Amino acid sequence: MADVMLGRLARWLRLLGYDTLYDRRAEDEQLVRICRQSGRILLSRDRSLCARRGLQSLLVESDDLAEQLVQVVRLYWRPGTVKPRCPLCNGELQAVDKFSVEGMVPTYVWVTQEEFQRCPSCGLILWKGSHWRRIMAKLQALVMACPL
Ligand SMILES: [Zn+2]
Repeated sequence: MADVMLGRLARWLRLLGYDTLYDRRAEDEQLVRICRQSGRILLSRDRSLCARRGLQSLLVESDDLAEQLVQVVRLYWRPGTVKPRCPLCNGELQAVDKFSVEGMVPTYVWVTQEEFQRCPSCGLILWKGSHWRRIMAKLQALVMACPL
């Protein structure tokens, strides 16, 4: 469960396959209640929120997205295949045939990309474009730079 400050982190955690809830209108009390009831871990930049009783939480240390991702991924590393989730709604993305999305994505993207994923819940179509590659390269560099 990401708090309202961590929308970008939440979107990337979903892409990395983490079941991540995020609601930018949620009040602190709601976040705490959901975490207590569901056993979800609260991610927050707010020290006092993380210190609430009966709550599993992680105080996110950095303002930098890639450093935030490294912090979370290190603590909650799950080996195995990454099954990306929808950055918008947390649905489990499904690989779809390139020809099934023709005309539904920009022509340049359709011509240059081979792998597409679709969210069965909200219909979002995704591909691993240059932004994805930049973030992943930065993540990899950060992980390599500071071994466990
Ligand atoms: Zn979706």
